[in-house]
Amino acid sequence: MDSDLARAPGPRPAPVRWEPVAICPDTGARAGIMHTPHGDVETPAFMPVGTQATVKAMTPEELETIGAQIILGNTYHLHLRPGADLVAEAGGLHAFAHWNHPILTDSGGFQVFSLCERNQISDDGVTFRSHIDGSRHFLSPEGATDIQNKLGADIMMAFDQCAPYPSDHAYAAEAADRTYRWVQRCLGAHRRPHDQALFGIVQGSVFPDLRRRGAEQISGLDLPGVAIGGLSVGEPKPQMYDILDLTVPLLPRDRPHYLMGVGSPDCLVEGIQRGIDLFDCVLQTRMARNGTAITRRGKVVVRNAAYARDFTPLDPDCQCYTCTNYTRAYIHHLIKADEILGLRLVTWHNLAFTVDLMGQARRAIIGGRYASWKREFLSGYEVFGGKEGPPAWEERRRRSGGTGREA
Ligand SMILES: [Zn+2]
Repeated sequence: MDSDLARAPGPRPAPVRWEPVAICPDTGARAGIMHTPHGDVETPAFMPVGTQATVKAMTPEELETIGAQIILGNTYHLHLRPGADLVAEAGGLHAFAHWNHPILTDSGGFQVFSLCERNQISDDGVTFRSHIDGSRHFLSPEGATDIQNKLGADIMMAFDQCAPYPSDHAYAAEAADRTYRWVQRCLGAHRRPHDQALFGIVQGSVFPDLRRRGAEQISGLDLPGVAIGGLSVGEPKPQMYDILDLTVPLLPRDRPHYLMGVGSPDCLVEGIQRGIDLFDCVLQTRMARNGTAITRRGKVVVRNAAYARDFTPLDPDCQCYTCTNYTRAYIHHLIKADEILGLRLVTWHNLAFTVDLMGQARRAIIGGRYASWKREFLSGYEVFGGKEGPPAWEERRRRSGGTGREA
């Protein structure tokens, strides 16, 4: 394994460094600044997901306006279309997508395991069929690293095996151990350690012993950042919080902690309390496309007839462009009329609301009042179903047979 180049701190400074600004004395919630080759990110931060090298329905300038500082791109999707070579030819993902701020690319592992049928897993990698045209592909730790080197994001993720929920202990252990073997191969294949940071991922499903071992193994690799994967895949929220309670304290304190695929407001504030710095989720953009706003009070299904004569903003407490200028009634009308602007306005609000929520959390941490801020937020917030829904939602999800998670 030739991991020396990717180690941080090393002879060369790591491309991504996290600097603490304040730690909440009561909870351990962290405010910090993550330095990257394309600028700084104030943490805790929410990363809008740009699956196809675009955050659906939003221009980069609009993302800047709402205060988004970092976005996510999907290796699996970009590999299949348009292909990493084309993106490299365009000058990398930043130039291709006209986003000159930090980008994180995932490894493609989650999509390969969740989106593709008939995948065959071995220690070498995964053979799968494209969800677009059924063509056969092979993705390995080396391949996923090569693709991400070509995409050129500031942060790239190690290729991992995400166990579905529920999984038995033996399967989850095999996936977690393979994930650890694979991160070492990713390190060996990494060609741009000077300007791209490789983050490792802790797997282990809901099994404390596996999570503990995974956290210790990843911490031993001295990577510039660490992620917790394989959560929010259908397990009850309290179980996810328990896993965070035991995993996060085992991670290096001076590195950014990234909780993958989690983004409902209650999960964000609970994750922050447990020392998470980075989040990403498709919930905001996906719900917007379904005509549902995420607000200070919970969700507002503005598509519903109840809002046809509601001349108030989506969220009366929100200062975003949508809430400043448009009513629920107007947005309801746009959605019913299949007008693109309707979905754009809800997307704008959902992302702006979430980014603003992270800013509020950050200020509360710096002000030494995170616990009371969180308590006040949750007291006015009605938890809704979603991929990390409460037990009632879990029951509906289970009955409907859905995974609850979008790939
Ligand atoms: Zn708004």
